[in-house]
Amino acid sequence: MSGGIALTRHAVERSTHLRTDDAWLAKAWDEPGTRVLVIEDGQALARISDSSAELVFVSPEEAPAGTRFLLGVDTDGVAYFGVGGPITGDSDPRSRQAGLRDAGTLLTDRDAGLMTHAVALANWHAVAGFCSRCGNPTKPEMAGHSRRCMVDGSEHFPRCDPAVIMLVTDPDDRCLLARNAQWPQRRVSVLAGFVEPGESAEQAVAREVHEETGIIVSTVTYAGSQPWPMPHSLMLGFRAEATTTAISVDDDEIAEANWFSRADLRAALLSGDLFMPPSLSISRWLIETWYGDDLPGPAPGAPGT
Ligand SMILES: [Zn+2]
Repeated sequence: MSGGIALTRHAVERSTHLRTDDAWLAKAWDEPGTRVLVIEDGQALARISDSSAELVFVSPEEAPAGTRFLLGVDTDGVAYFGVGGPITGDSDPRSRQAGLRDAGTLLTDRDAGLMTHAVALANWHAVAGFCSRCGNPTKPEMAGHSRRCMVDGSEHFPRCDPAVIMLVTDPDDRCLLARNAQWPQRRVSVLAGFVEPGESAEQAVAREVHEETGIIVSTVTYAGSQPWPMPHSLMLGFRAEATTTAISVDDDEIAEANWFSRADLRAALLSGDLFMPPSLSISRWLIETWYGDDLPGPAPGAPGT
């Protein structure tokens, strides 16, 4: 498949060992060559064309005040930080604020990894300013990778909600695709849902498939994952084998669901009877790994999984 899983691409080492090195952190912030990515409401400044996007970094001196976090150090020794704060534009007419849904597939491997990391941390800091135990203010530690309560001393780590997303096949190797009740007509994807407390990811797959379509699955196999920091999920991708094929949709979350052979899907996409998830999503990657090739037809830019 041409794209792989878009938001798992990266090129900059996270340099976790430097997060507690205060002297190194101070020196890196004083270095004019240090690159800072400013994140505001999940967006960064990027120079965007039809086929590519390039993040616009600022120097530490130009960065706004705000929560600062170390993203990593590249092979040339350049340090990258993120800062949560207001974005100020630059003079390039191609520059605009963009979120991962807009720019995720257009960015280079380096920029996709940096922006995904930075958006995830900025989203967490934006809601983690107060201790969940006692309500008093917390302050960042570990170069922005944890926070500590200033009163009771408790340590708080970035929250990440696991969600499962699964491609279900029947004994004839047909793929189950469904339309969420919130989606437009003809838009379909694989099933997905959040992992509940006290539940394994595999159990969540079986539960969600049964709740949404009435189908029972047996073998559940991990396929791959993608961070989805909108605002703070981790999408865990699975393949699951159905032992029943009769579909009974829940009529709440799912409007319709059907089995598709590869030939059925190809014909439906080429005729415009169906639309697939965008290239950014792990759902499209899961469908393409089953299909065995890039999917025919246009990839819509609409957000979603
Ligand atoms: Zn506290």
